[in-house]
Amino acid sequence: MTNMCPTKTPMPEQAPNVRNKNFDEVASGYTVEMALNEAARCLNCKNHPCITGCPVSVPIPNFIEQVVKGEFEEAYKVITTASSLPAVCGRVCPQEAQCESKCVRGIKGESVSIGRLERFVADYHLQHADEAVEKPESNGHKVAVIGSGPAGLTCAGTLAKMGYSVTVFEAFHTAGGVLMYGIPEFRLPKAIVQKEISTLKKLGVDIETNMVIGKVLSVDELFEDGFEAVFVGTGAGLPNFMGIEGEGLIGVYSANEFLTRINLMKAYKEEYDTPIIRPKNVAVVGGGNVAMDAARSALRLGAENVYIVYRRSEDEMPARNEEIHHAKEEGVIFKLLSNPIRVIGNDDGKVVGLECVEMVLGEPDAGGRRRPVAKEGSNFVLNTDAVIIAIGNSPNPLIRSTTEGIEANAKGCIIVDENTMKTTKEGVYAGGDTVTGAATVIKAMGAGRNAAKSIDEYIKSK
Ligand code: FAD
Ligand code: SF4
Ligand code: SF4
Repeated sequence: MTNMCPTKTPMPEQAPNVRNKNFDEVASGYTVEMALNEAARCLNCKNHPCITGCPVSVPIPNFIEQVVKGEFEEAYKVITTASSLPAVCGRVCPQEAQCESKCVRGIKGESVSIGRLERFVADYHLQHADEAVEKPESNGHKVAVIGSGPAGLTCAGTLAKMGYSVTVFEAFHTAGGVLMYGIPEFRLPKAIVQKEISTLKKLGVDIETNMVIGKVLSVDELFEDGFEAVFVGTGAGLPNFMGIEGEGLIGVYSANEFLTRINLMKAYKEEYDTPIIRPKNVAVVGGGNVAMDAARSALRLGAENVYIVYRRSEDEMPARNEEIHHAKEEGVIFKLLSNPIRVIGNDDGKVVGLECVEMVLGEPDAGGRRRPVAKEGSNFVLNTDAVIIAIGNSPNPLIRSTTEGIEANAKGCIIVDENTMKTTKEGVYAGGDTVTGAATVIKAMGAGRNAAKSIDEYIKSK
């Protein structure tokens, strides 16, 4: 029977004043009973509008129907026809702007919690599934994938299932891209990412870490080594800075560096000797997911006052609603309509403050967002011993600067044919943040999957 409750079945989570002192996952996921209760809210709509909101078209009503029947492994099979990382997407997809934004239950109440159900199904599978993964028969063709983020992993997994021999080259010592070094443990446990990666390895995907392509080997050398096609999924890991006075002071971090030290180099664990400043007062500049992650991580490292400094209002913040909500609950202080103009240092070159100016919103800019304008004479100083800059990332130029024929646009994003993900160089495909600029996990996965299909067609047509 349909559950006509207008609100989502709540998901248990740690209390804010407990979780802001540890790195354990905030939400513990649905129990079987909760999942059945939430799945019963789905109306199994004939025209399934929810699917149109999902960038990879997960057959949402079909998987929820299986959950209603208690057939959780069947539900997993349905989801994985479209998404190769459901335990990740169920946790980090901006569902409120994607699948859930189109759900009809959202018209008179809250949408069905598609993300939580997806997470439940994926976690159930990870806990109960038979570990054996059948390795497909080889088709004798070799493909190289550069970068092991969601784009590269999805491309590799899709090709491996078709019988290709796939080698993933990763610059870092651990595979997973932003899933490992960016998104913190309390939002996405690293064991889950590693489990998804071990499934790929069982499919036969070879992952070579500490391999910076463009330095250790070039793209052309990969072709010389017998790879018939190359997929570039190198992400957008080059942090942008504001260009204001004092950005070189000790205590100024890019969010990437700060989060990498915490997530990949485990700075929060006593037994790891990772150098990191443990600031008492921190200003995080930016309003996206990256800023929220940096602010919430700083709290967990022991900071007393953590400020989000954002030059527009909360309505314009690009971060997921859930992240903003969680950050506020945990005690992050929001300094909205505030723009940094100078990082202040002491005689030792260390950060002691951030000078900001208050803003008002003026006319909309070309993108439709109201342009912030400085209020004269409204300068103020936040006393901080660290400033974390989280105002966006750009693609790293290494691959295209060391490979002739791969063209990029003015923002440094690799140019591809949108349907085939083919770059301007024969046999080279690209997708994910290196093509779009900083975007989302599910979009990167979708691009990796599309590229794999095109690579298959390309190699078969040779
Ligand atoms: P990446 O994940 O960046 O992976 C690229 C990989 O390529 C990296 O491992 C890198 O080391 C490797 N590489 C780079 N250059 C080379 C080279 N020359 N040779 C070999 N390897 C190389 N998205 C969401 O959907 N929801 C969220 O909640 C969310 N939160 C985020 C929080 C943070 C802190 C960050 C930084 C991003 C977040 N995102 C989120 C965005 C999302 O993680 C990215 O859009 C996604 O990871 C892009 O995938 P990708 O595979 O293109 O690149
Ligand atoms: Fe929604 Fe993301 Fe799952 Fe698609 S992959 S159904 S957008 S949670
Ligand atoms: Fe279920 Fe909502 Fe999709 Fe309808 S739109 S099938 S209620 S998830």
